Amino acid sequence: MTEQEFRVVYPLIAGWIEKTLAEHAPAAKPLASLGFSRLQDYYDAPLLASSKAVVVSRVPMPPLSAMGLDRFSDFEQMDAGGITYLDTYFVRADHVRDESLHFHELVHVIQWRLLGPEKFLALYADGLERFGYRKSPLEVIAFQLQHRFQREAKPFSVEAACQKLVEGMAA
Ligand SMILES: [Zn+2]
Repeated sequence: MTEQEFRVVYPLIAGWIEKTLAEHAPAAKPLASLGFSRLQDYYDAPLLASSKAVVVSRVPMPPLSAMGLDRFSDFEQMDAGGITYLDTYFVRADHVRDESLHFHELVHVIQWRLLGPEKFLALYADGLERFGYRKSPLEVIAFQLQHRFQREAKPFSVEAACQKLVEGMAA
């Protein structure tokens, strides 16, 4: 995506996110209400306290094709288990008990915060375009850390792990 193209679509996507989060704000749940036992060993209390989850039957995706970004239509139509916008993530109802999915989305919450919305979206779009969803760098980080969460018993600080990885990307 060219810098010029990003300049045009960024306000549209940012506006869509703002509107979507406002619409779902009444249904957003604090994470503590979900009753998970392991997340607190990986994320610090302020992050868990400020992040919210919204349970939906289908996660909302920005209307990228309508914004002229037809080449992202596969991503737009993907019926994902979860997706994160800023400090809020949406989780599909059939995945709501999957603690590792919540773990994955919280990695994105940290990425949004470390990078800021503009840089996050620029890097996410660039990664999607060049490598596809599963191999896009911000997803690779989230999947790698999620894999550790699933495989290793010993907790680690996601924030610290993420900081190094994301700083390398934003440089
Ligand atoms: Zn992800």
